[in-house]
Amino acid sequence: MTEGRRRAGFLLIKCPDCSSEQIAFERASTTVTCRICGSTLATPTGGRAKFRAQVLRSVEDATVS
Ligand SMILES: [Zn+2]
Repeated sequence: MTEGRRRAGFLLIKCPDCSSEQIAFERASTTVTCRICGSTLATPTGGRAKFRAQVLRSVEDATVS
């Protein structure tokens, strides 16, 4: 199986503790924490990160400023 042109993407996630939204890399290699409250949102697994946060949708082009 090939993923074709699909790149590992970015996901818009929502913190379960403070409801703030932020973008995280789907295959995060480090723990992702909420930039507002510091809660752990995703933990690395070696592949797709395990998300504790609610995943709202994928983001095609993450233009995070
Ligand atoms: Zn939070």
